[in-house]
Amino acid sequence: MKKTVVLTGDRPSGPLHLGHYVGSLVSRVALQETTQQYVMIADVQALTDNFENPEKVHNNVYEVLADYLAVGIDPDKTTIFIQSMIPAIPELTMYYMNLVTLARVQRNPTVKNEIKQKGYGDTVTAGFVNYPINQAADITAFQATVVPVGQDQLPMIEQTNEIVRSFNRIYKTNVLKEAEALITKTARLSGIDGQAKMSKSLGNAIFLKDTADEVAQKVRAMYTDPNHIKVDDPGKLEGNTVFEYLDIFATDKQKVQELKDQYQKGGLGDMKVKNYLLEQLNAFLDPIRTCRQEYTKDTAYLREILLKGTGHAHETSQNVLTQIKQAMHLVY
Ligand code: ATP
Ligand code: MG
Repeated sequence: MKKTVVLTGDRPSGPLHLGHYVGSLVSRVALQETTQQYVMIADVQALTDNFENPEKVHNNVYEVLADYLAVGIDPDKTTIFIQSMIPAIPELTMYYMNLVTLARVQRNPTVKNEIKQKGYGDTVTAGFVNYPINQAADITAFQATVVPVGQDQLPMIEQTNEIVRSFNRIYKTNVLKEAEALITKTARLSGIDGQAKMSKSLGNAIFLKDTADEVAQKVRAMYTDPNHIKVDDPGKLEGNTVFEYLDIFATDKQKVQELKDQYQKGGLGDMKVKNYLLEQLNAFLDPIRTCRQEYTKDTAYLREILLKGTGHAHETSQNVLTQIKQAMHLVY
């Protein structure tokens, strides 16, 4: 039986953090066992808001790949590829641009939000507002039918499916496949500052590549219960990031429950809980760090993996592109 094709990926605008781990990496390690999974390192998309920093994007391609390998994404099971090396994607983007009105692009809620967040206003580039069309090209170039995304990315899948339906209707074909969003079950991981989302750009992330010292510093600065001042004060668990992380990363659930009970009653200081979290985080991160170090020492090996995956992705996408061009009477 043909396996479901899954497309997912990350923008290499920085290394990956614990939020990525719980939000997407874990599910990719599982999905590679049952599906045909493509993981795209989206350097072209990263350039839409980093076009003045191409070296940063270039270097982070290797960082992101090392993160993938270290958490267990297996290049023999998952096709890992670089977006900019797949010419079918920009070509499809051009064709799809005819099928989307300018008003529709400007109405995309996720893009609107990002324009506001980044303070672009009228300086927003055509490349940036166009990126949902580019994503439709990413997905359809592989005939992916499942796309794991966070809730905020739903408008992207909607836009993709609108393009798929228009295309198939106008060019009387069924070569494009509608995609289904696989909403990640885990809630977003909060940042160490207690903000709702751990994010590269918010400076509140613990990265998979952080050293034990860096993690220690970050954990010490973590947001807890601001009213828990004296050790004897009863503390609150809601909104307390240290306990949120313990629930996810500590292996001894009974011990976590005991700490919670004691914290709520009073008599347990933040520092003690933080030290325990640090120990647990390091136990989790140590093997990832060791593995990462091995890979980052061997850039030749990393390149080989990228080129192999990209070669495979190129072949698949060219086949799909040919079918698409046939439907558009573009084969001469
Ligand atoms: P940036 O600050 O540049 O937006 P980021 O750190 O928010 O970067 P993204 O590249 O926007 O990371 O995230 C890509 C995907 O990773 C998201 O769609 C989501 O699936 C997952 N992800 C990112 N941050 C988190 C988080 N804190 N909790 C859960 N999942 C997350
Ligand atoms: Mg983000």
